[in-house]
Amino acid sequence: MNSPKPKTPLPSVATENWGDWKWHMRNRIRNEADLCAYLDPTDQEKEAIEATKGVFQWSVTPYYASLMDATDTACPIRRQVIPLPEEMQFDSIGLEDPLEEVAHSPVKNLIHNYPDRVAFCVTSQCAIYCRYCLRKRMVGEAEFMMRKDELREAIAYIAAHSEIKDVLLTGGDPLTLGDAHIEWLLSELSAIDHLEIIRIGSRMPVKLPQRITSELCDILSRYHPVWLNTHFNHPKELTPEASEAIDRLLRAGVPVGNQTVLLKGINDTTKTMRELCQGLVKMRIRPYYLYQAQLIGGTAHLRTSIETGMQIMRELQGHLTGFAIPKYVLDTPYGKVPLTRDYVMGRNDEGVVIKTTRGDVWVEANEAPATGALPSV
Ligand SMILES: *Cc1c(COP(=O)(O)O)cnc(C)c1O
Ligand code: SF4
Repeated sequence: MNSPKPKTPLPSVATENWGDWKWHMRNRIRNEADLCAYLDPTDQEKEAIEATKGVFQWSVTPYYASLMDATDTACPIRRQVIPLPEEMQFDSIGLEDPLEEVAHSPVKNLIHNYPDRVAFCVTSQCAIYCRYCLRKRMVGEAEFMMRKDELREAIAYIAAHSEIKDVLLTGGDPLTLGDAHIEWLLSELSAIDHLEIIRIGSRMPVKLPQRITSELCDILSRYHPVWLNTHFNHPKELTPEASEAIDRLLRAGVPVGNQTVLLKGINDTTKTMRELCQGLVKMRIRPYYLYQAQLIGGTAHLRTSIETGMQIMRELQGHLTGFAIPKYVLDTPYGKVPLTRDYVMGRNDEGVVIKTTRGDVWVEANEAPATGALPSV
C-alpha cells in the first residue's frame, strides 16, 4: 500500500466553476495525470487505467473525485470509479447483455419487456462511468450515440402502442443532455395521450449534483407527472451538495426514489446499508430497489452473493423505518424478481404459520377458508 500522504481533495478551483456542471463535464478526469491531482494511484490502479483503455470508458467528475479518500485504497467512492486489473479478467459467466435487452428492443433505444412500461435509452453518455455498470457494453460508445431521428422513431413507437402507460428515460444518463434537448423529449412524450407518467433514471444527483439547476427543475415541473430515480450506493455520497440538488427536485414536485446496486466491499454490510437508507430518507428520498449485481464481464470482483444480500435485508426488516427499506431484486430477462425470504411458512390446523422478522412463530387463525396451496406445516 502507498504510504498515507494526505492531499487536499480539491485542486484549487474557483467557486463559480465548482458550481457549474458544464465546467465539471469539461474538466473530467480521463487519464492518470489528471487523477494524480487527487490521489497517488496504486500500481494496480495505474496498470488497470492503461489496460482498460479503449475497452471500457473511464471518466470521473471533479466533484465525485473530491469525495475519494486519498489514503484509503478501499474507499467506496474510489472503488466505484477507478478501475482495477480484475476488470480485464472476463469470467466465463460474464455476459455483455445478461437481460437480453437487445432481444426486447422493438426499435433502437427502446426496451419493451413489460406490457405497460418501456425503458427508453436517450443517450449513451454518462458523467462518470461506474465500473460495475449494467450497460457497460454501450455506455459512452460512439456507435450507441442516439441521433434525433432515431429518438423520433422510438417516440413514434410509444405513440403507436396505447398499452404503454409509463416511460422510463434512461441511458447512459439522460441528464447529461442539455436542457433544450431534455425539454424537447419531455414535450414530445407528454403530447402522447395514453402516457400517464414519465420517469427519469439519473445518477447526476450523486456524481454531479450541480447539474440539478433551477432551470432544469423548472423544465421538469412543466411536464408532470415526472418522477426521478437516482442511484446512491454509499453514505459518503450523501453530501450537502447532493442534499440541495434533491431539495430542488422535490420543490419542483418531482418525487425522488433511489436504486442501489449491492457491491462487494462497497456497501455489502448491514451497517453501511442501514446508514445509507437512513441518510436517504433524511434527504426525503425513498429507497426503491436494491439490485443484485448483474453478471457483466469484468465485474466479478464487485459482486457479492445473494445470501449476503438476503442476510442484509433480514437485518434491516423490522429494524428500520418501513419506508426506508428498499426491495431487494434480481433483474432477469423475464423482468425483476424480489429476492425475499419467505415469512409465510405454511398452514396447519389452526391457521397460517408465520415466522416474524424477530424469529418468533405466529399463527394467524383460520378466519377465512383456505383457497390456495400453502404447504402443510
Ligand atoms: C426496471 C425496468 C422497468 C421499470 O420497472 P419498475 O419495476 O416499474 O420500476 C421498465 N422496463 C425495463 C426494461 C426495466 O428493466
Ligand atoms: S451512471 Fe448508470 S449508466 Fe452511467 S455508468 Fe453509472 S451505472 Fe452505468
